[in-house]
Amino acid sequence: MKHESDILIIGSGITGCAVARELSRYAASVTVLDRGSDIAEGATKANSGLVHAGYDAVPGTQKAYYNVRGASLYPVLCAELGVPFRQNGALVIALDDADVPTIQKLKARGEANGVQGLEILGRDALLAMEPSLNPQVVCGLYVPTGALVSPYEMAFALADDAALNGVSFYFNEEVTSVSRLPDGSFSVITGSSEYCCKVLVNCAGASGADLHNQLSNRKLQTVHRRGQYYLLDRAVKPPFEHTVFQCPSALGKGVLVTPTVHGNLLLGPNAEDIPDPLDTATTADGLSEVLRKAVLTWPALSVRSNITNFSGVRAHLTVDDFVIGPCDGVPGYFEAIGIESPGLSSAPAIGSELSVMIAGFMGLSRKEKTVPYPIPARPFHDMTDEERAAAVQSDSAYCQIICRCETVTEAEIRAAIRRPVGARSIDGVKRRTRAGMGRCQGGFCLPRVAAIIAEETGQSLQEITKNGGAGYLLAGSLDSFLKEASDHE
Ligand SMILES: Cc1cc2nc3c(=O)[nH]c(=O)nc-3n(C[C@H](O)[C@H](O)[C@H](O)COP(=O)(O)OP(=O)(O)OC[C@H]3O[C@@H](n4cnc5c(N)ncnc54)[C@H](O)[C@@H]3O)c2cc1C
Repeated sequence: MKHESDILIIGSGITGCAVARELSRYAASVTVLDRGSDIAEGATKANSGLVHAGYDAVPGTQKAYYNVRGASLYPVLCAELGVPFRQNGALVIALDDADVPTIQKLKARGEANGVQGLEILGRDALLAMEPSLNPQVVCGLYVPTGALVSPYEMAFALADDAALNGVSFYFNEEVTSVSRLPDGSFSVITGSSEYCCKVLVNCAGASGADLHNQLSNRKLQTVHRRGQYYLLDRAVKPPFEHTVFQCPSALGKGVLVTPTVHGNLLLGPNAEDIPDPLDTATTADGLSEVLRKAVLTWPALSVRSNITNFSGVRAHLTVDDFVIGPCDGVPGYFEAIGIESPGLSSAPAIGSELSVMIAGFMGLSRKEKTVPYPIPARPFHDMTDEERAAAVQSDSAYCQIICRCETVTEAEIRAAIRRPVGARSIDGVKRRTRAGMGRCQGGFCLPRVAAIIAEETGQSLQEITKNGGAGYLLAGSLDSFLKEASDHE
């Protein structure tokens, strides 16, 4: 089967979704392909969820440029899209005298990058701010503009807005080859189809460099760098208000201790180079490294209320910077690859600037009208009693609590499935609503969520997966099992 569109984006992580939303404002047909079964199946679903202020990236790099601009766009964008965002501020701490020059260097870098309000604080000021900090702290960089966001909720909202404004999303479509045709257009081959487009945009995360190398003579190489985490129950109050980093190293920003935007506590990530970008396992060694380092920040560390561990994989290019923009020698091919940290922070700026480059190249005009984004209702968990009473009055499905740990109602699960790019799997519902994100990790609500997905989508229960692919929840029906058993007798 052959599909045609003006612009084709490979990858529906935060980068691809940000680009898609911006391009949906122009008069052009836009398609997004992803090998996953949902939005944000790559690095975007498993990271620290921080909007970095921009003090870490080396001045003059693409990372510095896009980080600072992206971070400045977050507050308004999150308000427009109803995505959870909280400016809690960050601290980078020096735990011995040898770290002090690094703290000074980070402040100078941040100022060169245009980050506002940076201040070096001494031990007393830091302990007054965060009494649970290691009392041996020497000094620290205070970063008031550091913030928390929900990375996948941001990607869902960007995708929904793009879809409402005409962008088509196709999942389970792994791009295996890309080529430029004699007329200057592109052919993109997936397992089942050929897609043709005038402009190709590579936002393919871990595969970004491989696809780039099929089109460009300048070959790029990726190092896949995994980071593992502990996530603690939000029933336990985080010991810190701020995100607390230790001094960064060549491998990354180091192990941090931070509240999440939803009020859990997150410890991690470590950094280990691995051959397979899809290997998101956690390991005993990786997790004990996280604990060994996190305890230096938080001496009273306790992971008794740990509810899950996870890992994400950074796509680090050996050129050690983001590669963003048109590609020399391949007119019509644009890319945003090597988008490791601070890629989440940078995404709004990458989306905005890359779309302007593409529109300029194609001579696109802006649409006269856009479809306004309907901000989803506040989570039932966060509503006041009055708001809950009104919600129940308006829709009786608010009366059914499906996830007890996170207080998620049937109404919210149905709404998540009905969104423009709606949930189709257990994990899709979980990331959109938090059903299954609590202490029991879905032990209670999973069958109920599966039944609602089946009802909403017209699928049988046997077709429902945990997260796409062959991850079916049920191995078969009891009837067919009993029939097979009796045939056997
Ligand atoms: C451990 C860790 C911690 C981090 N913490 C932060 C942080 O706190 N703040 C911050 O700013 N950044 C952070 N980052 C970086 C941030 O997560 C990434 O920069 C960002 O998510 C990259 O988004 P992306 O859309 O470019 O890539 P991805 O999210 O990986 O998306 C790429 C998409 O392309 C799809 N795809 C890949 N290959 C193909 C193919 N061949 N065909 C079709 N589809 C394909 C994938 O399925 C995926 O959906 C962290 C990263 C990690 C791993």
